[in-house]
Amino acid sequence: MDQHPKAHAAAAAGFLADQQRADWHDETLWFVRSKRDKAAQQLPEWEALRTQASAIKEHTLSRLEQYLTGFEEKALANGVQVHWAADAAEHNRIVHSILAKHHVRKLVKSKSMLTEECHLNPYLQQQGIEVVDTDLGERIVQLNQEPPSHIVLPAIHLKKEQVGEIFHQHLGTAAGASDPQYLTAAAREHLRQKFLAADAAITGVNFAIAENGAFVVCTNEGNADLGAHLAKLHIACMGIEKLIPRMEHLGVFLRLLARSATGQPITTYSSHFREPGPGQELHIVIVDNGRSTQLGREDFRNSLKCIRCGACLNTCPVYRRSGGHSYHNAIAGPIGSILAPNLDMRKNADLPFASTLCGSCSDVCPVKIDIHTQLYKWRQVLSKEGYGPAAKKLGMKMMAAVLAKPDRFALSGAVARKFLGWFPKLAVNGKLNPWGRQRELPKVPEQSFREWYRTHYNPKKTNS
Ligand code: SF4
Repeated sequence: MDQHPKAHAAAAAGFLADQQRADWHDETLWFVRSKRDKAAQQLPEWEALRTQASAIKEHTLSRLEQYLTGFEEKALANGVQVHWAADAAEHNRIVHSILAKHHVRKLVKSKSMLTEECHLNPYLQQQGIEVVDTDLGERIVQLNQEPPSHIVLPAIHLKKEQVGEIFHQHLGTAAGASDPQYLTAAAREHLRQKFLAADAAITGVNFAIAENGAFVVCTNEGNADLGAHLAKLHIACMGIEKLIPRMEHLGVFLRLLARSATGQPITTYSSHFREPGPGQELHIVIVDNGRSTQLGREDFRNSLKCIRCGACLNTCPVYRRSGGHSYHNAIAGPIGSILAPNLDMRKNADLPFASTLCGSCSDVCPVKIDIHTQLYKWRQVLSKEGYGPAAKKLGMKMMAAVLAKPDRFALSGAVARKFLGWFPKLAVNGKLNPWGRQRELPKVPEQSFREWYRTHYNPKKTNS
């Protein structure tokens, strides 16, 4: 299997090499998950909200074309310029052409996982445009020249001391300083200059409302507002799945989003954009990039209901202990693992296997995506398509041959009992068996269950 050069298991082993960091990462995300639980428990109607949100998204996806064209019609009537991008490359070309038309050299961007997915930053930087991510966590990872490791908490893999060091190197803060308040003030000062100097602002879109052509961007720092209101040009990039039919549906999602993400009752800023301000231009780039293919996959269609709250990452025992970068995909964690193979099965074939299938992700998902079932289904698809691990494929074939014949099964059992008795360490705890590396083999029985049964329950004796 020609997998990504840094497949999940290997990258996770790298993350786990620093045991202290892995423990801290695990505990921090569990803390966020616990906050989510408390926030959810305070709403008696929580489950009803989840059901409603799921149904609204289900309905929208079933009539996506109708809602997309309706949204475009309203947005155009509002004076917004609408563009359609079939894939990441087209998205990047469109954004660049708008910027080039306006001679933009400096750009501020609020957090957008879609632009991460499309690798917009490096593309624009190659064209000589300065792109500054203005979400604090995003700015930290941008300065550290690495991608976000979490869709809501992009720098969650870094401790405050590491952030202090990054700021010392790039923003000139005092060496060794790690006080969050001091560092935040420095970032604020630095970003304020970038906001004032920017020629254009790019934002993501959390929800686009079909009935009036408006869209909503949720941030905790107000950076999307500041960027979009200061610059003469605002480009909003959205995936086709961001639609909801009506304004009255928005409240359902806003109530679920922040509670699921961080345990807050509401995101600090839910900014509504509908038309360009006086003297401004507003563009919306609507992007497919594999989403319509996913929409056509019946088993995986409802992954497009995702509102990117990050709850499935926070609860996932594998994500918590392997870190976001081990997923080698813009979106990490359980949801990333069902979206990524749709984009490239070969490169991302390892990701659906990066799960215990415990189902905790599905339990917390505010829009009721059956995440763990889809992970399991992807494993079947990938194995059928020939992307499964070669060793596992061979192992399964051998197992099928053994299980097909009772004599072979009995013989292999007898051999295994002898062999394991002689070389338990080699067979169970050796390098070839990662599952056994941290496990002890129970005492190998002297006889098989059948042999034991025959000696203890002789049918002749029992019937007499
Ligand atoms: S799949 Fe569900 S829990 Fe995970 S990020 Fe999306 S909405 Fe949140």
